[in-house]
Amino acid sequence: MSERDVVVVGGGISGLATAHCLARSGLAVELWERAPRVGGKIHTARKDGYCLDSAASMVMNFRSEVDAFIETAGLTTSKLPRAPGNKRYVLDASCLQEVPTGFGELLKTPLLSTSGKLRLLAEPLIARGKDPHENVAAFVGRRLGREFLEKVFEPYLAGPLASDVDHAEAVSTMPRLSALETRYGSLALGALLHRFLSRGSTARPQAFTFSGGMGTLTDSLAHNGGFRVRNNLRANEIWPVNGGWMVAGTGDNESRTVFARQLVLSTPSAAAASLVRSLDPLLAELLGGIEYAPIKVVHTGFERARVGHALGGSGFLVPRHSGFECNGCLWISSLFPGHAPAGKVLLTSYLGGARNPAARDWDQARCLDAVAPMLRNLLATRGEPDMLHIESHPSALPLYHGRYSARLAQMAARLEQLPGLHLEANYRGGVSVRDRILCAQTAARRILRQQQAKPAKAAIWLDSRELPDIAPATGTLS
Ligand SMILES: Cc1cc2nc3c(=O)[nH]c(=O)nc-3n(C[C@H](O)[C@H](O)[C@H](O)COP(=O)(O)OP(=O)(O)OC[C@H]3O[C@@H](n4cnc5c(N)ncnc54)[C@H](O)[C@@H]3O)c2cc1C
Repeated sequence: MSERDVVVVGGGISGLATAHCLARSGLAVELWERAPRVGGKIHTARKDGYCLDSAASMVMNFRSEVDAFIETAGLTTSKLPRAPGNKRYVLDASCLQEVPTGFGELLKTPLLSTSGKLRLLAEPLIARGKDPHENVAAFVGRRLGREFLEKVFEPYLAGPLASDVDHAEAVSTMPRLSALETRYGSLALGALLHRFLSRGSTARPQAFTFSGGMGTLTDSLAHNGGFRVRNNLRANEIWPVNGGWMVAGTGDNESRTVFARQLVLSTPSAAAASLVRSLDPLLAELLGGIEYAPIKVVHTGFERARVGHALGGSGFLVPRHSGFECNGCLWISSLFPGHAPAGKVLLTSYLGGARNPAARDWDQARCLDAVAPMLRNLLATRGEPDMLHIESHPSALPLYHGRYSARLAQMAARLEQLPGLHLEANYRGGVSVRDRILCAQTAARRILRQQQAKPAKAAIWLDSRELPDIAPATGTLS
């Protein structure tokens, strides 16, 4: 039986980043991953000279802490910034319209009507909201108007977040925007003030991947992160002992039990729920109740000459009721020219999400039926793609739907009864790779503080499983 300062269960970016931050602080860390490879949703495949990311295709960063993390992970020289140019498009009445990013562009854009623009300009005059669990549609509609909601926000939530404006809780899904209203009473004025006040802690906004794709980030953390990785090892059971935690798991050829002073669960919520069920059924219920949306990632490669559109930008998002079944398309080879062979383009489309959960069961032909007409109509592609590769994520992203902040608060209260147990995955604190790294850094600081304050004793191994006296689970989510 072994002993570690920390065991991290789950080798996606959440677990890897947390393990790396802890190992850098000098703790002995072991990470368990049930799959043969680390990375979780993140993985880069190579096919016919294309570089194909299965989930995250880039990091969108504006925080200096993330730059520092990349640096300490030894990945600065592998960083691959996106090609210059910042145009993003949204489908509007059968045309791709550029999404305005500055004030001047906002006034000129044909995307919004004059009344829509006037409504936007009135934002600083709108009173603060009163409902702490307001959904995104209500929040954005109230502050920025219905037109901006439907044409800009709805496609953004359905695309990168796979979510639904009518069900996503604003404070959980867009915490930074929501905080601007709470703190400053206006998104526009708050953003200006915040930018001025936070000089130094924000980095120049940038989008980047790594040479070799996003898999380079996770592979490199696993190999050079300073902690021990055990692949093909699935955690089956956890129980508290002597102020620390026992973790038992099985793999292809081994079963393993380790004593950890602190235990981090970085699995999707359903797996965390089954690990904590016997200790705290209410925490398990809160975790198990988190909804996930499916996503199909459809990579298509074309000869450049067979795509009529200039592809100058990063891609486009599709609003609901557009008539297309797709949520958006990234022009990957425009962002990262090395991701497609010379003379070819890589277009990656996303199906499913909360908008269309039925896509979970679509086969390759059905996925292509959903994507091909859209590419033909909007990007003037001709013929079938030369390369087709589809990634299927039945439970791709957690949806911060309903009274999500209340769910998280209840989970945090339950966790206080289980000292030394930590939940660090994308159902808490944001789904983006940037947010996963920021959460890992915060978690590592917290764990280190706890470790220094009250080191657990592992000297006596107990045969009987001592469970702490946890209040019986009562009540459900309000
Ligand atoms: C299609 C798609 C596109 C995306 N695009 C972007 C993007 O461009 N930019 C961006 O910033 N973000 C993007 N994201 C979001 C981001 O990729 C994910 O939120 C993030 O990778 C999730 O990481 P995670 O570690 O929390 O979870 P996961 O990646 O799901 O990792 C959890 C790990 O836990 C393991 N596990 C589960 N149970 C056990 C067990 N009992 N024992 C041991 N191991 C276990 C699993 O095998 C898995 O490896 C995208 C996501 C998707 C799905």
